[in-house]
Amino acid sequence: MNIELYIEKNKSNIIKFLSQVIKIKSYSSQEEKLVTFILHFLRTKLNTKKLYVKRIKNNIIILLPKSNCSQKVNILFDAHIDTVPVENINKWKYPPFSGKFVEDKIYGRGATDTKASLAALVFTIKFLTEINYNNKPIAFSLSSNEEDSSGKGITEIMNYVKPRYCVICEPSDLKIVYGHKGKWCVKLTFYGKPAHSSSPQNGINAIYLAYPLIKKIIHTKPQQFKNTILGKPTYTITYIESKTNSLNSLPYECSVYIDYRSVIGETEESIKSWILKSLEGTNIKFDPVHRFFAAWVLNKTHKLFTIAKNVYKHCFGKKPEPILWQFCTNGSVTMVDFKIPTIGFGPGSPYLAHQDNEYVKIEDVFSAIKFYSLFCLHQEGL
Ligand SMILES: [Zn+2]
Repeated sequence: MNIELYIEKNKSNIIKFLSQVIKIKSYSSQEEKLVTFILHFLRTKLNTKKLYVKRIKNNIIILLPKSNCSQKVNILFDAHIDTVPVENINKWKYPPFSGKFVEDKIYGRGATDTKASLAALVFTIKFLTEINYNNKPIAFSLSSNEEDSSGKGITEIMNYVKPRYCVICEPSDLKIVYGHKGKWCVKLTFYGKPAHSSSPQNGINAIYLAYPLIKKIIHTKPQQFKNTILGKPTYTITYIESKTNSLNSLPYECSVYIDYRSVIGETEESIKSWILKSLEGTNIKFDPVHRFFAAWVLNKTHKLFTIAKNVYKHCFGKKPEPILWQFCTNGSVTMVDFKIPTIGFGPGSPYLAHQDNEYVKIEDVFSAIKFYSLFCLHQEGL
């Protein structure tokens, strides 16, 4: 059976599966129900004689072919199964956990980030079992804990499976991605001195102590940073909180959260020293909210990149236009921590991720299945 025919035959099953996985809420560390559903689907709808399924905490790893399966695989395809929460339920045109299919789109939290990729991988695996895939050993990971920026899920996977190459399945509008920015969220706490608010001269207002930092983040244009292939770093304040004994006393503590998107060459030390520069002498506590994820770019002459581009041409009949992601993915763990050459590719628009009314065009999911399947079948040279 060829891939086009397979997709044609499975269209309604793919739509149904994607809609079902959107209906199952799976916030980070709460993926249990979705894991149970996917495992049940794999065991009842796929030929289990053809694949090996392993669960590690809330991650699922699928190895193929079963006859020659190994933890040492050629390519690992990863899609995370957790999503960011829904905050503004009233802003959604369709309920965020309805998985509603309207015209050519499926709506819901996680539709594009990354349940569309999850569905595409599951139906790629199904195709490979149906054609008795017998090429080099490959693995698929459906991973937990990506959105919480812990790196936990993908690290648990990478400690089990040893791939030579990785494909991160995050929304890319079906373009090949060869790198992305890094990410670090840090919290800076300023300590003041409480006093009755009718006599502010007797205390130190912690919010006022934080003001120079807030001003610096707002007004410093990243001009001073060198332009890189990833552009310049960006930074923004995402949350501010203060502690006070009452609304009529001076706040004694103020914390500012900064979300920093780094470029190649930046490290924890360089970012920390840039943030703290010009704030010397202030009583500040610097706390990372999560570990630092470094930026990465795959060399344009790397064979993974070349072969991915050939598969793309073969799959879509046009010249690929590779891109770089502005956001961070599990790729920082695979490429930087584990030193495995990595690319990205996925259905859906990255600009719809984390938004109200998130959706994915179902045609994108079909196209991704075709690309992933052809990639598995054309690994010559890798
Ligand atoms: Zn995301």
